[in-house]
Amino acid sequence: MPRPIRAWIDAGALAHNLAIARTRAATAKVWAVMKANAYGHGLLRAADAMRAADGFAVLDLDEAVRLRELHPGKPILLLEGFFEPADLAVLAAHDLCAVIHHVDQIRMLEAASGPAPRRVFLKMNTGMNRLGIAPHQYRAMYERITRLPTPTTIGLMTHFADADGVTGIATQLASFEAHAAGISGERSVANSATVLRYPHAVAQWARPGIMLYGGSPFADQSAASFGLRPAMTLTSEIIAVQALRAGDRVGYAGTFTATAPMRIGVVACGYADGYPRHAPAGTPVLVGGVRSRLVGRVSMDMITVDLTAVPDAQAGLPVTLWGEGLPADEVAAAAGTISYELFCALAPRVPVRERAAS
Ligand SMILES: *Cc1c(COP(=O)(O)O)cnc(C)c1O
Repeated sequence: MPRPIRAWIDAGALAHNLAIARTRAATAKVWAVMKANAYGHGLLRAADAMRAADGFAVLDLDEAVRLRELHPGKPILLLEGFFEPADLAVLAAHDLCAVIHHVDQIRMLEAASGPAPRRVFLKMNTGMNRLGIAPHQYRAMYERITRLPTPTTIGLMTHFADADGVTGIATQLASFEAHAAGISGERSVANSATVLRYPHAVAQWARPGIMLYGGSPFADQSAASFGLRPAMTLTSEIIAVQALRAGDRVGYAGTFTATAPMRIGVVACGYADGYPRHAPAGTPVLVGGVRSRLVGRVSMDMITVDLTAVPDAQAGLPVTLWGEGLPADEVAAAAGTISYELFCALAPRVPVRERAAS
């Protein structure tokens, strides 16, 4: 028998969450953001579940080409565009849309002798200071693209640094609107946090990611409060039970000490499966459907959990690390990270199964 750990992907939840994004984004079209193997959910599986999206957004050319083969005619956006001149013919052949974020990419287009992409989104750096053309150079770059030999449809794009935080989007949005004023083209500015918190700013193409997978972009507002459902549930089982006496310590470095007799369960899930190694004692774990807590240090292949709340627990009892019944956002917060990282870190060694429709 294989180790009992499984990641269950609920295609119905993906479709449901996409429908929520659509409703929130009102008349906007939706790129389903599927970078990082669809946030760990499996690129092709997620694309199939979310085929009602208007388009898919990914990072890798290979991912885009694989999607194209299964989804002819669907707009596919490469969020970092292309990296070298040889990519241009691939983009053209597969009718892929590229983000242009740097003048070097425009130079590659200008120097291209063969086929080139016919559709791009020109990204403006409005304050994130990661990718994008400086606002004062934006119009000139746009005009250079209009002069390319391949007629190119140009969209306008920016990305907000703090749509989920206290700073919000106002300054960046104002800069984008000021420097894009009078330039024609569809606009795309909204990640999940913007779709959920600033629906007035969504423009023509929304770009939600985390909300599709049932995670909340906000530290202070749950995914469930938006009607989102978890799309990934990580489960395993208790594989051993230990009875501790007062003073007994648990795991590497003995970071947890029992203050009274207690039982703990050993769960087949560790950091090599993608469980966050820094999760401290107290991180919630669902044991036999009962909320319990991590004790002791996370090891490579195992964690240990308090069985006080489940006195009858034996080996074989099911455990949920996150997902249905235990929001990934809560586990992530306890471990000092975000659900994005938990999902993306799911290790290749974890078998993935589709959850039957619920
Ligand atoms: C990842 C990403 C998104 C999606 O962000 P979420 O917070 O997951 O909704 C949107 N746009 C760009 C440019 C991204 O890199």
